[in-house]
Amino acid sequence: MTASNPIVPGEVVTVAPGVRRITAPNPGVMTGPGTNSYLIGDPDGDGGLALIDPGPELDAHRDTLLKTAGDRLRWILCTHTHRDHSPLARALKAATGAEVLGFGVTPDDGRQDETFAPDRALRDGDVVNCGAVRLRAVHTPGHASNHLCYLLEDHGLLFTGDHVMQGSTVVISPPDGDMQAYLDSLEGLLTLPISRFAPGHGFVINTPQDEVRRLVAHRLKREEKIFTALAAAGPATLEVLVRSAYDDVPERIHNVAMRSLHAHLLRLERNGRAVQSAGQWQSR
Ligand SMILES: [Zn+2]
Repeated sequence: MTASNPIVPGEVVTVAPGVRRITAPNPGVMTGPGTNSYLIGDPDGDGGLALIDPGPELDAHRDTLLKTAGDRLRWILCTHTHRDHSPLARALKAATGAEVLGFGVTPDDGRQDETFAPDRALRDGDVVNCGAVRLRAVHTPGHASNHLCYLLEDHGLLFTGDHVMQGSTVVISPPDGDMQAYLDSLEGLLTLPISRFAPGHGFVINTPQDEVRRLVAHRLKREEKIFTALAAAGPATLEVLVRSAYDDVPERIHNVAMRSLHAHLLRLERNGRAVQSAGQWQSR
């Protein structure tokens, strides 16, 4: 990342041969510079194109994607059904007839794109043949139970959606978000032939294995800080605990941090290190 090439919504940027990034105009605390949509396929050829994560329902983003893909869009793959990633699938399918693919189960937690209805449901290991390229679905629950990453096999490029972001921290929101599943899914990436990450938010990451180890270590360090705060506070609510366990992050994002705090506490509870009763948590 440099000051001379910031991520600009609507700009078409080639990030790898045959892979173009177009960022939606939805920047924010949770979305960084905005949601990245990736268009895959030879820009100068006449074969079909695949799109990973159409993005939020914004007319400007829809128009940019349609203009860039022309009439070549054939496959729309979604990493998960949060509202900044999948909703535009419907309008793009209506405009182009492209096939929509995704995990196919939408959790009922009030945070999802309930319009999502894939033509084909994918599971871990499924391979999607998109003309000259193959994309392998990798089930990565944790941020969302229906989260899939997609591996562009010939390039070792993994489209990580919200499983790994660049420049912002992934929020784990129980009950659909699950910290243990998230850590397991991160470790699982170390077994795959990956050379780069193309995240749903931010820039391409060129050191994927180092990044995975850093993220796991960061979460475990945070969890120990939470455990220490819990032991010191005695029975305490999330609202009280977040102040000490996240005293290094700005107060304005404490309400978001509280969700990941909750996810850590549930993992500590599962591991026999914490108990809760009537909204009060304590160590054991
Ligand atoms: Zn998400």
